[in-house]
Amino acid sequence: MFRLLFRFLILVVLIALIRYLFAVVSRAISQTFNPHTPSRASSAPSSGNLGGELKQDPVCGTYVSTQTSVKKTINGELVHFCSSDCRDKFKVA
Ligand SMILES: [Zn+2]
Repeated sequence: MFRLLFRFLILVVLIALIRYLFAVVSRAISQTFNPHTPSRASSAPSSGNLGGELKQDPVCGTYVSTQTSVKKTINGELVHFCSSDCRDKFKVA
């Protein structure tokens, strides 16, 4: 009676182990054949999805979204600031 139970337990453990191994192997195969799975984000921070592009505030160095930034055209170039305070500081400098 106990031997039967023991066999049943071994079977359950074996099935769990095989399923685990199968999952690991299939994941490895899918990574080999499909290397474009986004495990690492691209290094270019120029185009973020969070509300437009990110531009650096030249006064305080903070990255601000082009949708929420304070904009000012200086020498024909659109400059983005995190706040009107930074924009005013840039005008003085
Ligand atoms: Zn700023």
